[in-house]
Amino acid sequence: MNNPFKVALTNLEMAGKAGGIKQEIINLLSVPQRQIETNIPLKLDSGEIKLVRGYRVQYNNWRGPYKGGLRYHPEVDLDEVKALAFWMTIKNAVINVPFGGAKGGIEIDPKKLSQKELERLTRTFARKLAPNVGPNVDVPAPDVNTNSQTMDWFASEFSKVIGKSTPAVVTGKSIPNGGSEGRIEATGLGGFFVLEELVKKLKLKTPLRVAVQGFGNVGYHIAKLLQEAGYRVVALSDSKGGIYNKDGQGFDVEDVKNYKEKNGSISEYRPSKNTVKIANKGMPLLQVDIFIPAALENVLTEENAPHISAKVILEMANGPTTDKADQILDKRKILVVPDVLANAGGVTVSYYEWYQNMKNQMWSKKQVNAKLKKAMVNSFEEIWEICRTKKISLRLAAYILALQRLSKEATLLS
Ligand code: NAD
Repeated sequence: MNNPFKVALTNLEMAGKAGGIKQEIINLLSVPQRQIETNIPLKLDSGEIKLVRGYRVQYNNWRGPYKGGLRYHPEVDLDEVKALAFWMTIKNAVINVPFGGAKGGIEIDPKKLSQKELERLTRTFARKLAPNVGPNVDVPAPDVNTNSQTMDWFASEFSKVIGKSTPAVVTGKSIPNGGSEGRIEATGLGGFFVLEELVKKLKLKTPLRVAVQGFGNVGYHIAKLLQEAGYRVVALSDSKGGIYNKDGQGFDVEDVKNYKEKNGSISEYRPSKNTVKIANKGMPLLQVDIFIPAALENVLTEENAPHISAKVILEMANGPTTDKADQILDKRKILVVPDVLANAGGVTVSYYEWYQNMKNQMWSKKQVNAKLKKAMVNSFEEIWEICRTKKISLRLAAYILALQRLSKEATLLS
């Protein structure tokens, strides 16, 4: 199994060299500033107490408070959280929000817990992290298997601990609890804006066929936006497996979502006999124009990269491409839109949410989406320019842009 933190450091070293970044900056960015490991006593509904492992890695805060999501998953470990925290540092610099990078997680399968157990787990985790988080220190957000409810519990518990209502301690909250309009769909919408720019630059012929792996918050929203814009979403999957529309017409994404809500998974969805089952490992190999990983890491590997037929890969998941796969895709001229740009819409609107909380403001969805579009298109243009002038991949270009911005702040701190 590829260690995602090693992949992250390989990208850092390569970008440092390609961008002429000082080695001392690269050295400082090769290690997290602080990592918290904690054992959380979880009281189950049966009354039994179970110890579960929680992490928060505060990677770097040169550009502002640490910022990054909380993931609940049985395979969460320190190396994964470190990699995700590093990517947040790069991403926040790419999209130019005044935040550093962090990530957290709990090694648990939340699908096996009741709502009450999940609430107790989140509240205990919030109490454990309370001395080390806060609106000007570290601001968590949702990630895999966490959502606005998780964030509402976290903000409520933190506020109790410090004796003051503090919604800005987390983002991705529900709207009545201080969330922002547009946050839920922000990651998908941000990726959509970038893809639209790229399709224009590459003059790709429409209608384009798309496969989306992962049908959670990010996967559902981007699939829906793409279908509405005329793309054909011909394959979708979740953790139980995938579905492929053989006639190439594409799915009605809202109908798939309704099916998932009723049945727990999309894998048995069969609107017509042209829809067939497909294993998750077959998803990247489908005959499509665009492949969108929107689930977990290490999906594109040296084994499948030589056989991919998509022209564009839009990395909505964090770290879906191993470094070896990246080199193969680059050689094969398959354009990879890196995670640190493609999925930066979420943290961008998280920044807007935090800003509204800090200034006691409420913006409309129209205002939020207009600002998001500007931020995504600006970063894309900057990265495109570096990519074309230096003749390097979009990932290296994005890292160089981020490292230039991080270097400026590091100089101010010395
Ligand atoms: P989510 O929990 O809402 O959805 C995850 C989806 O992936 C689910 O449909 C799940 O069934 C599916 N999945 C899990 N394992 C799978 C596997 N092995 N194969 C195929 N599908 C699988 O999570 P999310 O918030 O949509 O996050 C998805 C990805 O996007 C993650 O990499 C996350 O770090 C990244 N991301 C999320 C946000 C955000 O705002 N939520 C922002 C930036 C990046």
